[in-house]
Amino acid sequence: MMGHFDYLAPKTLAEALGALQDRGSGAAVLAGGTDLLVQLKQRKRDLSCLISVGSLPELKGIRKTPDGMLSVGAATPLGEIVSAAGLSREAACLAEAARKVGSSQVRNLATLGGNLCNAAPSADTAPVLLVMEAGARIAGPGKERVVPLEHFFTGPGATVLQPGEILVAVEIPQAPAGFAASYIKHSVRRAMDIAFVGVAALMVPGADGAGAARVRIGLGAVSPTPMRARKAEAALEGQPFSVELAARAGEIAATECSPITDLRASAEYRREMVAVLTRRALVAAWESAQGGAAR
Ligand SMILES: Cc1cc2nc3c(=O)[nH]c(=O)nc-3n(C[C@H](O)[C@H](O)[C@H](O)COP(=O)(O)OP(=O)(O)OC[C@H]3O[C@@H](n4cnc5c(N)ncnc54)[C@H](O)[C@@H]3O)c2cc1C
Repeated sequence: MMGHFDYLAPKTLAEALGALQDRGSGAAVLAGGTDLLVQLKQRKRDLSCLISVGSLPELKGIRKTPDGMLSVGAATPLGEIVSAAGLSREAACLAEAARKVGSSQVRNLATLGGNLCNAAPSADTAPVLLVMEAGARIAGPGKERVVPLEHFFTGPGATVLQPGEILVAVEIPQAPAGFAASYIKHSVRRAMDIAFVGVAALMVPGADGAGAARVRIGLGAVSPTPMRARKAEAALEGQPFSVELAARAGEIAATECSPITDLRASAEYRREMVAVLTRRALVAAWESAQGGAAR
């Protein structure tokens, strides 16, 4: 049973920010509710007011900006992101991760902003957004700021959002020509299960075609926040690509994360899976960048 709370449905972002400020610490933003309503039912949170952002035009939709950036409104349902895969290659990468969240019923409600603001270390959209170096556009009373996603998460369930702030959009810069990315989610069941390891890899081939000029690796569910594996990235950049080198990078990534043991998997198993899945994600991204050539 949930406790009693007021429900507000503002029509504009300015109204929503005003309501959030007026209602203070007892208020929270409600998007699709697939995390928040469960937490309320389980009495993990006690709130006096929910402020819906579902009909705010400023938080809806996916569009390309004149400078080639992909801007995804925070209240855009993940199902809509899956359907927009054809918009650009960046949109296709995000769609690949969004497709792996829950079931189609969940994806029709669940929003991108909710996935990020809930800040679960296993949030499926986070690793791929980290490798694409996305930014979080945040609105607060009288001001807006953009925070690189890498600095958005501060701990399990915690973000840089200050009281009274709302995530407005996620901004993905146009990636260099020839890039390719992949996301691999490892979970106990095939569907409707959170990742116990998630790995995203992005590669941009170098001019000589033998190796990658840019490598980005994002890890989920193996540290208090989604994270980049920077040492593993550095081991690959500028080197001729090979499966052996990808395996070495996987081993390095496994030393960079700090997984925990819980009911679902041991820390040791998670570390082993980081090594395996990082190698796989790198090889998949490299092959895709090469136009599918088997290596
Ligand atoms: C059956 C089931 C299966 C699931 N499977 C997966 C899965 O496979 N992978 C996965 O990653 N997740 C999964 N989830 C979790 C959940 O669906 C996602 O995290 C979802 O994206 C949350 O979005 P929402 O719109 O429902 O957020 P809500 O529940 O509405 O909000 C979540 C949190 O974010 C805050 N918030 C939301 N929007 C904003 C905003 N614009 N600005 C500021 N704060 C905001 C809310 O206040 C709340 O604290 C699953 C959930 C269920 C119920």
